[in-house]
Amino acid sequence: MDLTSNNNDVPTPPLGGGGAIAVIGAGTMGNGIAHVFAQSGFSVTLIDLNADQLQKALSTIGKNLDRQVAKGTLTEEQKTATLNNISTASDIAEGVKNARLVVEAATENTDLKLKIFKQLDEVAPEGCILATNTSSISITKIAAATKRPELVIGMHFMNPVPVMKLVEIINGYATKKEVTDTIVELSKQLGKVPCAVNDYPGFIANRILMPMINEAIYSLYEGVAGVEEIDTVMKLGMAHPMGPLQLADFIGLDVCHSILKVLHDGFGNPKYAPCPLLVNMVMAGKLGVKSGEGFYKHTPGSKDLVVSESFRK
Ligand code: NAD
Repeated sequence: MDLTSNNNDVPTPPLGGGGAIAVIGAGTMGNGIAHVFAQSGFSVTLIDLNADQLQKALSTIGKNLDRQVAKGTLTEEQKTATLNNISTASDIAEGVKNARLVVEAATENTDLKLKIFKQLDEVAPEGCILATNTSSISITKIAAATKRPELVIGMHFMNPVPVMKLVEIINGYATKKEVTDTIVELSKQLGKVPCAVNDYPGFIANRILMPMINEAIYSLYEGVAGVEEIDTVMKLGMAHPMGPLQLADFIGLDVCHSILKVLHDGFGNPKYAPCPLLVNMVMAGKLGVKSGEGFYKHTPGSKDLVVSESFRK
């Protein structure tokens, strides 16, 4: 399957890139996914229902590209070319009409994803691969919402997408080998390292990561230690670049909560039940970086780690 040959109205970019990619959802992950495809020469349409979110995503991509230019890893010309490769749409049918590949990165909610994939199947061109960036939801279930389950696959990027090397590739029950091979090759073309796994709740990344984050939240909830102590132990003791509570803020506490629910429902094991503190914080709208506060306070442009007032001693 060749994603590098283009539709008529999409010019072939240099560097072996090409082909139109649609990214659904312009949140934490969608902007990063659009960024890396556009930087590799693909023509990208970024789609979100929320116009403000699309503007915010374009501004984030611009700032991240500026950082790459300042570091000397990208030229001004490459930055401009990357931005020129991205357009936006608020309507899925319009946004995917020329797509060879759709990468869905909308909110982690099973019903929403089933609805989006049912619609995608109706409006995306024949032969278009439908990938999802879901962190935990069954690819087989998502694929079953379409009449092309052999073209549905998990393409799970890590946050922040422009920086993190891994792409976890998840084969659904019906995913064709040719589709897996295409997505593996494409991931390499983006400068990433693909790793193919099978379709069980949370796959590998979140089956292992989320219980650790949940346990860190339980340790805080039970008063074993404070936010800074928990993160310091894991940073300095285990050489993790970021403590689990800081990482949870970065991922989004709503996303962590949704993934734990998928693990809990999928395995039927109480060890995956989300900590009541996490549940309360999500209900209170304390979602981490995206809402400005979680375990830490997050001020745009500041890298200082300030523990949220609720957890100060
Ligand atoms: P987010 O909440 O930051 O953004 C989700 C976006 O989807 C929002 O902008 C929302 O407006 C949009 N959206 C919702 N319904 C839509 C629809 N019908 N059509 C178009 N857009 C719609 O979420 P996120 O953290 O970017 O997560 C997106 C996906 O990526 C989830 O499946 C999540 O599990 C996965 N993921 C997240 C992370 C992370 O660290 N946050 C890492 C890897 C994978």
